[in-house]
Amino acid sequence: MDNVKLIWLNGQWLEQESAVTNVLSHGLHYGTSVFEGERIYNGNVFRLHDHSQRLIDSAKMLGFDLPYSVDELNHATKELVTRLDIQTGYVRPVAWLDDTSLAMLPSRNKVNVAIAAWNWPDLFDEETRTKGLRLGYSKWMRQHPKAAPVAAKAGGNYLNSVLAIQDVRGKGFDEALLLDFEGNIAEATGANIFFVEGQKLVTPIADRFLNGITRQTVIHIANELDIDVEQRRIQPAEVAKFDGAFLCGTAYEVLPIHVIGDFEFDVPTLTRQIIDQYQTLCVQGWE
Ligand code: PMP
Repeated sequence: MDNVKLIWLNGQWLEQESAVTNVLSHGLHYGTSVFEGERIYNGNVFRLHDHSQRLIDSAKMLGFDLPYSVDELNHATKELVTRLDIQTGYVRPVAWLDDTSLAMLPSRNKVNVAIAAWNWPDLFDEETRTKGLRLGYSKWMRQHPKAAPVAAKAGGNYLNSVLAIQDVRGKGFDEALLLDFEGNIAEATGANIFFVEGQKLVTPIADRFLNGITRQTVIHIANELDIDVEQRRIQPAEVAKFDGAFLCGTAYEVLPIHVIGDFEFDVPTLTRQIIDQYQTLCVQGWE
């Protein structure tokens, strides 16, 4: 990436070329890393506190402690965004175990922490934002929650997402829909899913995949708008009975789904309402 001008690494401010790590890092070999994806609106990171807290919590779930507090991470992030003068962009904090030992059991490994940020107006073009994404079912299921800490935003968990998107892109879809170990709908590669049923939202229970901060924001918006949200297991065979569907995640924001497998959706008014309200909240800001 050549648009990343400055990186915060373990408390130091470095040019990207100098912000490097050892090839024998434990995190590189075994996936012992955690990261966040955060979005900048009007120069402010949306729900920064929650993202910094999740980075720390994710590391704990992998068995290591970050050497920085939420306040210290927040402070470094805000300073980075200010130094780079980013109004609309993305922040990527990442923490990983170093090269002290390559033994499977981490013992004396230190934890490196880096934060990068860059200008990033939008992940999708206007047509996709209006019409929606085309999702294909992936041949890969989401990890069993007993095989990995699915509530952690951990590097190692993302091999599953990388495989899933490769699989469905090869079949002509934009994005993958992953099922859980019982064949219920789980989520997309980097976003949660909601369905619209009349005036109600239906979404899978977030105990088998990441309970996204955007998902929680959508539920907050629905509560404010007096819209019921049903959280339950959802089978692929039910998809055809819903009136619409959307994805939500920090990078995706709230994005309509046009296609799931061989089924096509329109974009119902309720989805548009949630999209508008989400944009309003992002612009208003939420620390
Ligand atoms: N699920 C996965 C697997 C993700 O990578 C993301 C993006 N972080 C999400 C859901 C949505 O999470 P959030 O709304 O916190 O960005």
